[in-house]
Amino acid sequence: MSDDLFLKIIQREIDADIVYETDELLAFRDINPQAPTHILIIPKEHIRTLDDLQADHAGLVGRMVLAAAEIAREQGLAQDGYRLVVNCREAGGQMVYHIHLHLLGGRQMTWPPG
Ligand code: C5P
Repeated sequence: MSDDLFLKIIQREIDADIVYETDELLAFRDINPQAPTHILIIPKEHIRTLDDLQADHAGLVGRMVLAAAEIAREQGLAQDGYRLVVNCREAGGQMVYHIHLHLLGGRQMTWPPG
């Protein structure tokens, strides 16, 4: 999958069902949902993987997690619960190399994940 696919969504070159946006973050519904609610939260800054984060990204990452919790509440997931996932590189199952949080909810999650 293309490296800069999510940059194209940020730039509105590819359509997405956007549910949340700030100056630095965007969230949209996953096109191949793995749960009744499956939303991706991304920074507008191009950061390839979790392993590329630097100390000065700490605030940004914190705001990504807080945005995920806010979206989860808006989507009615907070009471029953939900899952946040970050896949890092090949063995982690990452396909799009623009860091993203998966917000999954609306069904019972299982453990361990696949
Ligand atoms: O963590 P990973 O990189 O595997 O996840 C990428 C996610 O991006 C997938 O769940 C895929 O369905 C989603 N995607 C999307 N819209 C696209 C391309 C991929 O929601 N245009």
